[in-house]
Amino acid sequence: MADRDENKGGNLRLERDEAGRAWLHFDVKGSPVNVFSSAVLDELDEKLAELEKDPPKGLLIVSDKKSGFIAGANIEEFTTFTGRDEALAFIRKGHAVFSRLEALPFPTAALIHGFCLGGGLEMALACDYRIATDDPKTKLGLPEVKLGIHPGFGGAVRLIETCGVITAMPLMLTGRALDAHRARRAGFVDAAVPLRQLKRAGQYYIDNKPPKKKPGRLARLTNTAPARNLLARKFEKEVAKKARREHYPAPYALIETWREHGGDRAAFLKAEGESVADLSTTETARNLVRLFFLQEKLKGLGKGAKGPKVAHLHVIGAGTMGGDIAAFAAYRGLRVTLQDREPKFIAPAIKRANKLFAKRLRRPKWRRQAAADRLIPDPKGYAVEKADLVIEAIIEDEDIKKELFQSLQPRLKKGAMLATNTSSIRLEKLAGALDDKSRLLGLHFFNPVAQMMLVEVVKGEHTPDDAMADGCAFVANQLGKLPLPVNSAPGFLVNRCLLPYMQEAMLMIEEGIAPETIDAAATEFGMPMGPILLADTVGLDVALYVSRVLAADLGGTVPQRLEAMVDAGHLGRKSGKGFYEYRKGKPVRDKNAPPPDPDLARRMIGRMVNEGMAVLREGVVDDAELLDAGMVFGAGFAPFRGGPLNWVAARGKDDFLAELKRLEEKYGERFAPDPGWESWQPPAS
Ligand code: NAD
Repeated sequence: MADRDENKGGNLRLERDEAGRAWLHFDVKGSPVNVFSSAVLDELDEKLAELEKDPPKGLLIVSDKKSGFIAGANIEEFTTFTGRDEALAFIRKGHAVFSRLEALPFPTAALIHGFCLGGGLEMALACDYRIATDDPKTKLGLPEVKLGIHPGFGGAVRLIETCGVITAMPLMLTGRALDAHRARRAGFVDAAVPLRQLKRAGQYYIDNKPPKKKPGRLARLTNTAPARNLLARKFEKEVAKKARREHYPAPYALIETWREHGGDRAAFLKAEGESVADLSTTETARNLVRLFFLQEKLKGLGKGAKGPKVAHLHVIGAGTMGGDIAAFAAYRGLRVTLQDREPKFIAPAIKRANKLFAKRLRRPKWRRQAAADRLIPDPKGYAVEKADLVIEAIIEDEDIKKELFQSLQPRLKKGAMLATNTSSIRLEKLAGALDDKSRLLGLHFFNPVAQMMLVEVVKGEHTPDDAMADGCAFVANQLGKLPLPVNSAPGFLVNRCLLPYMQEAMLMIEEGIAPETIDAAATEFGMPMGPILLADTVGLDVALYVSRVLAADLGGTVPQRLEAMVDAGHLGRKSGKGFYEYRKGKPVRDKNAPPPDPDLARRMIGRMVNEGMAVLREGVVDDAELLDAGMVFGAGFAPFRGGPLNWVAARGKDDFLAELKRLEEKYGERFAPDPGWESWQPPAS
């Protein structure tokens, strides 16, 4: 395999201390985080050879990076593999080096502070001990499934050996990362200690060689062939609830590899690597890796901040959105004041905030309290003068919002920004209320705020580039979300593209097609939730409102059935009845609903993707990559397809356009291909 890493040598440093222990420092050159490239693996191999020749009392592996321990394999290098054989050669190299580390005749320990993910954790698992800091930044996990593969450097074998399959498998199937305390309880971290004690704890383990972590008897019994057969079925069932085998083959491949080879270590190690090599060439892996880079691109938009960080955020409107935006910002460490018309409107938001803190900030307890202390009810809005950013999330009414802006204007601190969360009112109209219009931008969050990663950062006619840069930086760096810059236009990107998709689904309801059938068509395509269940979940009143406002701007009809249901008080999940009936909050589905005709998905997805092209042509987003990213992270467009335009490019533009034309002939002009397709050239793959 050609070695593409120019950065040869100088990434690892070996030192010995007075007590005869060796310390291996990771500091990969030219990268803000430590990652395993082929060259870094070679260098590790060389260092291990040195240690074999002159064995120390023990080996401690540490990172010199502030960002964390090791973030995983170098994904960039992964994308350059030309096929299965090259991927397999890289994986085999990792296997060989980590097996060498595992076989060292003296005790070894990984001292972990910050991220320890993928290949980083796989290497740590090849050590005798893992000691991690109890810092909130410390996260340990094997997130490979998110890239369409599974652990391949022996990590699956070793994690199962260390903590038993019942604990290990779900961690690998979901890709979830744990903090040090949870990882210790799960059984793959030996001790969770404060940062100041990390080195001392490591030395203790090397000097005293306490027994290594081993799973209990029950965990060992679960590795027998009959148990593997039984458990594999159970794991598959769990995975099937979230991901289809034909869309996301990796978790199924991992389960199958373990089921078949879990009883024979050497065979399991070999099969694990081969399975990853197979997976690495799938469309799904390629597209998920693409999404990873798109995500990095969006995060990177936070780098160009012009102004200072937001120290104090003031949120006006403590409803569904404002309350949750305030809570999320406080959870992320900002000082937040929350205003509404009266204290009684703020109280429910504080209650929800405390739930969020309790869920996300379990340990240590003071962190939960500190977050609660950062969120301050401010019914009279006294803190407006102190805020660096004011986010307005009051009722969707142009006049009321303008009136509020006028009253805020003289009170804003010099240089403070004003953001609106409006879904449908043009920024230019709201800016009419301000003398200094350059202060206003849109920050359009999605519901539920804590879960949805995307925030549309909206540029109005008067919003300067600096303000956009600061808005993106606030979203990316301070909230840890993905900023998507969009120009002020009805529905921005996400709601605009969702509208025709939802309208088409509603037409199908009016055609008498069962909700279950329509939803199945969408989920079979790869949408995480069908449009009918989505409408019920968002609330039919909200769906009707958005549909009315956007249909007025963009054309299309407001579904009569939706109006009738809202009039009858059927608002979806929250009222217990919408398109589905709800029992204990769960939809009751008709199991005998007919399977979807293939045209159903073509109609819904076709309209959504065609609208995406219109958004691109009109310049609402700057480029095709932003469109793809926004649709996946904001609208849930089937992630394994890598975004709408990536999907069209993969199937062929001509093929997609021929389909739209056929749908146009059969169902009407709403399927007419957008003129933007003519000049659009799919990127060369
Ligand atoms: P909501 O009705 O849940 O909350 C609005 C809150 O604003 C209420 O608590 C109300 O008391 C308060 N309010 C009204 N007038 C006020 C005033 N003059 N001063 C202070 N407080 C005032 O509404 P929501 O769903 O949270 O929506 C808020 C904004 O966010 C709207 O602009 C909406 O378009 C937008 N938005 C909503 C969603 C969503 O899914 N709900 C998603 C994205 C954006």
